[in-house]
Amino acid sequence: MSRVYNFSAGPSMLPEEVLKEAQQEMLDYKGSGQSVMEMSHRSKVYDEIIKTAEADFRSLAKVPDNYKVLFLQGGASTQFAMIPMNLMKNKVADYIVTGQWAKKAYQEAQIFGKANKIASSEDKTFTYIPDVSDLPISDDADYVYICQNNTIYGTRYKELPNTKGKILVSDVSSMFLSEPMDVSKYGVVYGGVQKNVGPAGVVITVIREDLITDDVLPGTPTMLKYKTHADNDSLYNTPPAYNIYVCGLVFKWLKKMGGLEEMKKINEEKAAVLYDYLDNSKMFKGTVVPEYRSLMNVPFVTESDELNAKFIKEAESAGFVNLKGHRTVGGMRASIYNAMPIEGVKKLVEFMDNFEKNN
Ligand SMILES: *Cc1c(COP(=O)(O)O)cnc(C)c1O
Repeated sequence: MSRVYNFSAGPSMLPEEVLKEAQQEMLDYKGSGQSVMEMSHRSKVYDEIIKTAEADFRSLAKVPDNYKVLFLQGGASTQFAMIPMNLMKNKVADYIVTGQWAKKAYQEAQIFGKANKIASSEDKTFTYIPDVSDLPISDDADYVYICQNNTIYGTRYKELPNTKGKILVSDVSSMFLSEPMDVSKYGVVYGGVQKNVGPAGVVITVIREDLITDDVLPGTPTMLKYKTHADNDSLYNTPPAYNIYVCGLVFKWLKKMGGLEEMKKINEEKAAVLYDYLDNSKMFKGTVVPEYRSLMNVPFVTESDELNAKFIKEAESAGFVNLKGHRTVGGMRASIYNAMPIEGVKKLVEFMDNFEKNN
């Protein structure tokens, strides 16, 4: 067996330890005589799995007691609709557009009400985060929306926006559990798990309890009401049971690694290896304004598309896969989420250095 270093933006690497554990428990989960894939989501044994996953998530992310943790389906993209459907009481919301995912959320909100683009970094192809300290927040805005780490462009917020008392809603898909988070700053904070946390198909939404109500937009389907899932502990219907189980294994792994403070240190160290190299390379260049650099997604380019293509091809043969940049940006992107070991980044840099010498 030979595993590659997978730099994909998502789905992405999972810790090898977790995969092995899942493999070991595949045919007979803890003496139940069945796989987690086969068991009833109403069984005692599954209840223990989802309850433990939630408890571990809560302790890792230090979720306050007045927040619900919901395991939902439909990926992060379904949240683009659920958020306005559940929160747009005045049918007004403010969006800060810092990349494709924020833009998609902003566009989706327009289906339901008045979505205001109160700041954007599109003028410079999303290579920075705009000043968010004193924005023209709408008086009647139901919430202010951000995407905190921009997966495609490789930027992240250094500070959360001043929402002037409005609820902050944040998509943290591509930085989920990569560092500590202060949940109390948000009304809703959510992430699709396939970047940093588990297998695609699950989105974890952390929502303040007072925002979970029956007062939703008319026509909101039962499955798209937060209250439906909150009232039923994420078991209103059949959840993506196996994927939640794997998320649970990842939470255990994160706890074993020392929790989110420790992950932040590791992730900073990992990112520094790559950024330091990029800052000194004559061939490869990072594409974003340094102070907004993401710890998770690192886009870079050479001077030509031909050289980019040659690099990507040779890297792939050497076991560094999925380095091609997003189709809207071109060049390369290395996503170095929690499960990417530091050796993977060091070896990539060594490979880049050799490539630079030979080309
Ligand atoms: C990947 C991603 C999404 C979309 O996730 P899906 O689960 O595919 O809907 C949304 N937001 C961010 C920041 C992402 O990285």
